[in-house]
Amino acid sequence: MYIMNKDVLILGGGPAGMASAFELHKANKSFDLIEKNTKIGGLAKTFQYGEFRTDIGPHRFFSQNQYLYDLIEDLIGKRWIKVNRLTRFYINNKFYNYPIELKTALYNVGIYKAFRIISDYLYEKSKKIFIKKPPSSFEEQIVSDFGRTLAELNMLNYTEKVWGLPCSQISNDWSKQRIKGLSIRAIVKKIILKSRSQPKTLVDQFYYPDTGTALIYEKIKEKISSGNKGAVKTKSSPVKINHSKDKITGVVVESNGKKTTYKSKNIISSIPITEVIALMQPKAPGAVLKAAKKLKFRSHVFLFITLNKESVFPDQWLYFPDREIPFGRIMEPKNFSKKLCPPKKTSMLIEFFCWENDNVWNMSKEGLFDLSIGPLEKAGFIKKKDVIDIYVHREKYAYVVYDLDYKKNLKKVKDYLKKFKNLQLIGRAGSFRYNNQDHALEMGILAARSILENKKYDIDEVGSEGKYFERGYVK
Ligand SMILES: Cc1cc2nc3c(=O)[nH]c(=O)nc-3n(C[C@H](O)[C@H](O)[C@H](O)COP(=O)(O)OP(=O)(O)OC[C@H]3O[C@@H](n4cnc5c(N)ncnc54)[C@H](O)[C@@H]3O)c2cc1C
Repeated sequence: MYIMNKDVLILGGGPAGMASAFELHKANKSFDLIEKNTKIGGLAKTFQYGEFRTDIGPHRFFSQNQYLYDLIEDLIGKRWIKVNRLTRFYINNKFYNYPIELKTALYNVGIYKAFRIISDYLYEKSKKIFIKKPPSSFEEQIVSDFGRTLAELNMLNYTEKVWGLPCSQISNDWSKQRIKGLSIRAIVKKIILKSRSQPKTLVDQFYYPDTGTALIYEKIKEKISSGNKGAVKTKSSPVKINHSKDKITGVVVESNGKKTTYKSKNIISSIPITEVIALMQPKAPGAVLKAAKKLKFRSHVFLFITLNKESVFPDQWLYFPDREIPFGRIMEPKNFSKKLCPPKKTSMLIEFFCWENDNVWNMSKEGLFDLSIGPLEKAGFIKKKDVIDIYVHREKYAYVVYDLDYKKNLKKVKDYLKKFKNLQLIGRAGSFRYNNQDHALEMGILAARSILENKKYDIDEVGSEGKYFERGYVK
């Protein structure tokens, strides 16, 4: 068994872990970053299939933190391109703008349903005057904000597809983070004023690295390799986390069959929190193990199709809330950056949300293709003869599931792990928070700074302001 005495050990090479590594690299601190895959970037990695490239799903960067924009611009310069956003819902053979616009919705659904949308919305608004009970689930919140008919048109069935749970069993925390309430005043103002004179918000435009979102993390890796104090080690995983009293005393890492014990003073972990619990030696108490088992992750399977065709649709991605359509979202990478496919060709990435080991998870790429081609041909997007090739990829820990009990279970797990003074938990699966890249990066930076400045930053506070993530202006 080898012994390693690097100052810091980072677990996981996604955005959060790479951000910690970059911060430590800039301060010339010694560290190793351990990543189980051959690729870094985590859920924000980019694949190359022949002349085609794709992320694992649409990756639009947005943040309220100017520091992050500057950091990425310094890393990738002119390759940080601005994209005009177009993303829509495809419901019952019609397109609806995203975020859903009342005007288009009323026009598309016909008179009867339009009347229902308005009357349900007004009913919910007037109900709030008399009933002050706060909504206890995602369903109650959304119905109360939008009215039942509009909520069912897109939000409830799409959310159920993504989470695999009825919306009545999804925590309201999800809507606090992601869904902006509907304001009739704001809609009327928008229709009357038209938004031309207003600055563009991140809803209209976003930044994107020209060869895929992983470019950010590949550049960080390059910078780290140019130094001599830090290293990114792929195809490596922790197999045991030893602890005593209030400290992690050693982490055993396996890499190519070789075991090394890291005696690092500080550990930053962005691997799934449930895996950290399972690796603890001595074992975590029974109640903690039980709570950790109840924390669920939703998995993601993509079917990538390369096409002998110039374009499928103008959108970066489309949402498919209809229950009878088996997939949830389709992305066309070319509409993020032309560099993601060869001239005169395009590709599409079809996203399925599933549980690990369910039918979809276990399905072959041919099976997924057979499931998808019917709805795709019916919508007029592609024909079977356009297809060049198909590829499949699976991610087990794609989404943390905010069910009604997650907070209680997470608290048990976190209270136990908080005891260890030299362990910091960051990132999406690492802290069990529905993070996007910006908050994963912020967490990673703060964890490194806590070590460098010997100061405790409250990482759990990152992104907890409950603000709608998409606000903010493009500079
Ligand atoms: C379909 C989809 C679409 C998304 N769209 C957007 C978007 O539009 N905009 C946006 O900003 N964000 C988006 N995200 C979210 C973004 O990808 C994540 O927020 C971000 O990748 C989280 O970074 P992380 O480092 O916390 O975790 P991860 O990216 O999950 O990285 C964790 C890393 O740890 C590694 N690891 C796990 N277990 C072990 C182990 N035992 N040993 C060693 N290594 C291990 C993993 O391989 C991985 O590399 C999307 C995510 C998905 C799934």
